[in-house]
Amino acid sequence: MEYFESLCRQHGLSRTVQRRTIFEALLDREDHPTADRVYDLVKHRIPGVSLTTVYRVLDRLVEIGVISKLCHAGGTVRFDPKMHQHHHLVCVQCERILDLEDEKLNALTLPDVRTQGFEIHEFHIHLRGICPECLRKRGRKGAMSSARQKRRTRSAVRRRSKCP
Ligand SMILES: [Zn+2]
Ligand SMILES: [Zn+2]
Repeated sequence: MEYFESLCRQHGLSRTVQRRTIFEALLDREDHPTADRVYDLVKHRIPGVSLTTVYRVLDRLVEIGVISKLCHAGGTVRFDPKMHQHHHLVCVQCERILDLEDEKLNALTLPDVRTQGFEIHEFHIHLRGICPECLRKRGRKGAMSSARQKRRTRSAVRRRSKCP
């Protein structure tokens, strides 16, 4: 919360109730919510707030570096209140994104892509798979055939909207 306040000050941004509440809602979550989900979380706490406002506030917080935006091909944009380097476990079934802290991954030797004229600024690794909750549900259903499972995964991928 302190760095939130100091970054707002640095960027001449007043600490409105809206901004603070939206940031707090993100801090409470560990699943990297979408803007729509953040809206659901705060709409009862901020009277008269609109989805457009939530989008605008989130984008502004990304701009000033309070939160970061997770954007990967074929996925919806998600927001992350953790600004230090960390990695993600992405569930292909429910699209939950869990944090993974791993010093070894942070220290990974990256390929030299300068020959391709590319300059790397940062990296984080996405490991895709099935989260504990989905594994549990799957275990309960038990008999679901793998063919049906595959179809479900594919349709889940199609449902996602694109990153801007
Ligand atoms: Zn899952
Ligand atoms: Zn994260």
